[in-house]
Parts: sequence; C-alpha cells; structure tokens
Amino acid sequence: MSISEIRESVVNCTKCDLCKTRTNAVPGKGSQNAKIIFIGEAPGRTEDVRGEPFVGAAGKKLSDALAKNGILRDSVYITNVVKCRPPDNRVPTESERISCRTYLDAEIQAIKPEIICVLGNTASNSVLGQGEITKNRGKIIDKDGTRYFLTFHPAAIIYNQELAATFESDIATLAKTIQK
Ligand code: URA
Ligand code: SF4
Repeated sequence: MSISEIRESVVNCTKCDLCKTRTNAVPGKGSQNAKIIFIGEAPGRTEDVRGEPFVGAAGKKLSDALAKNGILRDSVYITNVVKCRPPDNRVPTESERISCRTYLDAEIQAIKPEIICVLGNTASNSVLGQGEITKNRGKIIDKDGTRYFLTFHPAAIIYNQELAATFESDIATLAKTIQK
C-alpha cells in the first residue's frame, strides 16, 4: 500500500470504538522517502481537531528539536500507535492498538526508513514489547533487521527541563545516525 492508500483507509476506518468518539482520524504525515519514522502514542485534542499528528504542544517540542539539528519536519514521517484520539487522552487499550497495528506496519513497509524513533513508553511497549524508556533511551536497538532508537515522549518534557535537555541530546544523536 502507498502512503496515500494508507491515509485513505485510516480516515475511513471503523475497526475499533475510538472511531465513535474521534473528530478526525489522524493518519501519519510526512515524506514517503523519509529516513526516520517517529512513532508517538495517540492523537491528543489538537491533533483530533486538525487531523494531523503532533501539532499541539508536544508536537512543537518535537519540531523544535528537529529544527535544531537541521531536520525539516517534512523530510521525516510522523505517526502514532493508534490513529484516533482516546477519550480524555487515556492510554490506548491493547485491543485498540492491535486493531490499529496494520496501519503502522503498512506505513513502515511503504517507507522503509533507515531508523524508527520510538517516543515514550506506550509506543515502546507496542512496537518493541518493552517499556523502561529511562533505561533504554538514547540507544540504537536492532530487532528483526530493523533499527530502532528510543527516547522520551515530547509531552513528558514540557514541564521538565532535565528531561528536555536529554530529549534534545537524544534527537541530536539520532540525527547523526542517518546518512546525510
Ligand atoms: N502525542 C502523541 O503521542 N501523538 C500526537 O500526535 C500528539 C501528542
Ligand atoms: Fe481504526 Fe485505528 Fe482509528 Fe481504531 S484507532 S478506528 S483501528 S484508525
């Protein structure tokens, strides 16, 4: 499936109950030729209203960290484990994640990035089957022939200067791993 076909399927999807409470489904966004895919947890309120991933306060943190390292947002691909906002921003359930997984897998297949950057514990649990971001962040992990990089979720750094500094240095490390 191409990125535009995946997008079309996501915006019309009714595979789980999150479709009943969403304003808009939020497909991933970015370049089909991206070297990096970023995976967050789920759309929040701003994303649900706009139908785009990471366009609220957390998204601003991500964009700023990318810009500092000379990475344009449009050159990467940004998506989430589930594409519809869970009510009150609760963590998506296992069954919702499983329902939505085909889209994430299709996005990865379509783009074939050099590296996948996993943002926070929910995404790490879903994608790598492990939490413990604090222990594993900042490292490249090879799994089944794919390279992953873990760091904090940008929402976690909004009110925490210490985590913010670590997040920024992780994004700098990530930027160095990709071929220029
Ligand atoms: N948090 C996420 O995990 N994803 C978004 O798209 C926005 C905030
Ligand atoms: Fe479909 Fe995923 Fe939205 Fe559930 S969260 S309705 S599986 S797009």
